[in-house]
Amino acid sequence: MLLEIDGWKVGLKFSASHFIPSHYKCSRLHGHDYGIRLRILGEPKDCILYDFVEVKKEVRNICEELDHKLLIPQSKKYIKHHIKDERIYVSFGDKHYVFPKSDVAIIPVNLVTAEELARYFTKRIAGRIKFPKNVKGIEICVDEGPGQGACNYIPLGDEK
Ligand SMILES: [Zn+2]
Repeated sequence: MLLEIDGWKVGLKFSASHFIPSHYKCSRLHGHDYGIRLRILGEPKDCILYDFVEVKKEVRNICEELDHKLLIPQSKKYIKHHIKDERIYVSFGDKHYVFPKSDVAIIPVNLVTAEELARYFTKRIAGRIKFPKNVKGIEICVDEGPGQGACNYIPLGDEK
């Protein structure tokens, strides 16, 4: 059985800006409204698969951390950055930016793509929440605007 939570409808969303260096258009600084969708896979125990209050709270916390921020990858594989005097210096190719550190969220991804964000959300949720044994896996999708996004599935419990 699957439990589904549509973050667009229950307020699991955030707005943020980013850039993707190799892309002809997305290499320019721009933003999206992001929505999170979750699926919890398993079999109900006593008629309930999972009480999703906790998972929603955890996802909401991550959304709040990212909301109205510029998202910068922690990995310096594609985008270089360093922090000095409460400012963050960001560069790739021949582009150089300086932002106040308070406007930026540095997240453990290689690039701020929907794919990498979906992996980040899933890992964090799977790491923080102790799911009951009847929950076999979780899938988290990060949409860049309604109707387009990337989903990442992590098996839990016996399927691990
Ligand atoms: Zn974008």
